[in-house]
Amino acid sequence: MPPITSVSVTHTGLRRESNEDAFRERQDLGLYVVADGMGGHEAGEVASRLTVQVIEAFIDDTRNAELNQAWPFPYDTAHSLAANRLIAALRLANQRVASAIGADPELKGMATTAVAILLQPAGMAQVAHVGDSRAYQWREGKLRQLTDDHSWVGEQVRAGVLTDDDAQRHPWRNVVTRAISGGVDPEVDIKEVDLKAGDRLLICSDGLSSVVPPARLSELMTKPGDLAACAQSLINAANAVGGPDNITVILVEVDAAGDVA
Ligand code: CA
Repeated sequence: MPPITSVSVTHTGLRRESNEDAFRERQDLGLYVVADGMGGHEAGEVASRLTVQVIEAFIDDTRNAELNQAWPFPYDTAHSLAANRLIAALRLANQRVASAIGADPELKGMATTAVAILLQPAGMAQVAHVGDSRAYQWREGKLRQLTDDHSWVGEQVRAGVLTDDDAQRHPWRNVVTRAISGGVDPEVDIKEVDLKAGDRLLICSDGLSSVVPPARLSELMTKPGDLAACAQSLINAANAVGGPDNITVILVEVDAAGDVA
């Protein structure tokens, strides 16, 4: 694993009373997760926390695993073991959310997004997601979005029907088209990225990405300063435009001095 620095920050924002986002940072596993819960009466918090717990436990349990008959889901040999571990972890979280809802009717309707990074040796990373929490890769002053939002407005933008600006203001901007909801086994998107010394990965809830445009994110990530100051500046940027939602940010940096290859 390349030498890594990481930092995570969450903030309730300025309009919500509770924080339904959850996150986990496990440098020893190379695992970073953000989940954004939905559902009234604190159920959203239950869904997002349960999901990060299940993902963390599964990635921990499969540290030395191989893809074989004991794997909990049909696996895809076109993907690496790391990718299959992440996909299975998110699907397992969906099953656990279903069990939690089955055991407590008050939790009915709860759901969560999840975006997760799993670092691999040799400077590669797998990025998995369900929902509209995002991952970005920042390299030499340029920001690249790694995830397509599973949201109604995201689909309209990709179809060329709405612009990014329209999407940001649209009344249906919070409608997600895929979630970890305990329903049908969710399709998990997976992407493999290569990492170079100096690269930064950002994963965040839509409390950041739906209110701070990518150009501004890129500008803040390019400013000199340490990673913690950078993460705080992203939180501040979301709150500066009203902080309408919970904001969670994890930044992962491949140390510039490190030899990634
Ligand atoms: Ca949110």
